[in-house]
Amino acid sequence: MNATQQVIDAGTGTRARPIVRVLGAGPAGLAAAYTLAKTSKASVEVLDRAAFPGGNAASFQIEGICCDLGSHRFHPVADPEVMADVKELLGDDLLLRPRHGRIRLGGRWVHFPLKPADAMRRLPPSFVASLMGDMATKPFRGKSQGEPTFSSVLNDGLGPTISDNFYFPYVRKLFGLDPDELAVTLAERRVSGSSVSKILMKMARMLPGLASPTTGKFYYPRRGFGQIVEATEAAARQHGVRFRYGAEITRIERDGGRVRAVWTREAEGEVRHESDQIFSTIPLTRLVNMIDPAPPAEILEAAAGMRFRGMILIYLVLETDQFTEYDAHYFPELSTPLSRMSEPKNYNAATEPKGVTVLCAELPSDPGDPWWDMTDEELGEAYKGWLADLDLPVTVPVRHCETRRLRQAYPVYDLGYEERFDLIDEWLMRLDGILNFGRQGLFAHDNTHHAFAMAYAAADVLRSDGGIDKDAWAAHRAEFTTHRVED
Ligand SMILES: Cc1cc2nc3c(=O)[nH]c(=O)nc-3n(C[C@H](O)[C@H](O)[C@H](O)COP(=O)(O)OP(=O)(O)OC[C@H]3O[C@@H](n4cnc5c(N)ncnc54)[C@H](O)[C@@H]3O)c2cc1C
Repeated sequence: MNATQQVIDAGTGTRARPIVRVLGAGPAGLAAAYTLAKTSKASVEVLDRAAFPGGNAASFQIEGICCDLGSHRFHPVADPEVMADVKELLGDDLLLRPRHGRIRLGGRWVHFPLKPADAMRRLPPSFVASLMGDMATKPFRGKSQGEPTFSSVLNDGLGPTISDNFYFPYVRKLFGLDPDELAVTLAERRVSGSSVSKILMKMARMLPGLASPTTGKFYYPRRGFGQIVEATEAAARQHGVRFRYGAEITRIERDGGRVRAVWTREAEGEVRHESDQIFSTIPLTRLVNMIDPAPPAEILEAAAGMRFRGMILIYLVLETDQFTEYDAHYFPELSTPLSRMSEPKNYNAATEPKGVTVLCAELPSDPGDPWWDMTDEELGEAYKGWLADLDLPVTVPVRHCETRRLRQAYPVYDLGYEERFDLIDEWLMRLDGILNFGRQGLFAHDNTHHAFAMAYAAADVLRSDGGIDKDAWAAHRAEFTTHRVED
């Protein structure tokens, strides 16, 4: 049975619109649903196991304070179409805010993003001298031999000072792997300057006169980062999109080379949803394991070899108006297990509620690690200890501590991931009736604006018969490889 729905179109009379089921109500799924419905390309239903929209980009409230799942900013480098839509969706609620963070290096605090005068004044003199040495000796340094890795590419491009003091400990902490166990792709996607001179140029653009109106700034919604996904969800609903929350995807039904339906486990039991096209933004590894009949053994084996890094977010609620003036503190060094800490009230410049603030810590960790099973109280105590070690002692009363756990915070680009990914990708691309995209769907280090851009591209390649223009999708996929993560 074909799932295509007959709909009445005011302008053209009766015509068929394909039924698209979107798996996942994170930014990628929501943006796809919104744009498909707005352009009347499809009849859309979104399925998510969570009780609310947003995925990793959602917000929630603690004691009246809007909190995100770790530090989230909307970056002004977003593609113009995405930027225009987000501005339209949020209106006056989208604030343009100055970035005001600090990074801990060699026991000192330096403004982040780096500013030339501040960096010269605050960076440890031995660090600056060593950096200058790296720049002077770069033309004479031999290039690393053998298969390039994250470690060799950074050492060759940036030199040992920045690599050893900043990037290497940071990735060890973030991914739980040594830098020479990580793929070059990670450097391409996440390292903002490939040489010291490029980093210096970036810093120079922070100088008054050279700065663009958005240099050193970020967009942030008045009611938390999650307001972006909430507004997208509300607009999609207005255009007729249906949402099923509490719907865990359990099975992707395939008939030879064609996916026919998706199955969910819901409060009332198992439900089958026949579809012309499935847009999947759920983790690629889960997707592959749910396809029935199962893919060939080599595809399942490749999926088993791919790993997402998890993260615990610890929210300490303090009885004070403000803990520091900074939006975020960055901790690249291994002396603390935290990677970053943010104070949500400083993102939207909230002055209310009075007498209380929240400090959100990001603790990279996986299920099975000792931290993963600790209670909120234990993690709160550990967090206070780590802050004291960082010269940020908590001297005000702690009202309470709560946590959230993300199982899929970061895709891990270990050596060999690319081969495994390509194997899965080629197999999935041969299937009809399913298209995977988004951070989890394409195993992509990305920002929210990239998730939106991928979703718009997916909507673009949907044909009126419910099929996918695979050549056009291949062209979009090539564009996605140019996405660079902003921190
Ligand atoms: C700590 C951290 C900080 C970040 N900071 C920034 C930032 O400053 N700026 C920025 O732009 N981006 C930032 N990001 C990235 C941003 O969160 C992602 O780009 C965005 O969430 C990706 O959207 P997505 O829809 O692709 O995936 P997700 O947001 O992960 O959404 C996937 C959805 O799929 C659902 N799902 C999964 N499995 C199933 C299943 N079996 N059944 C049903 N539903 C399922 C999930 O519930 C979820 O809603 C950050 C990410 C992290 C982890």
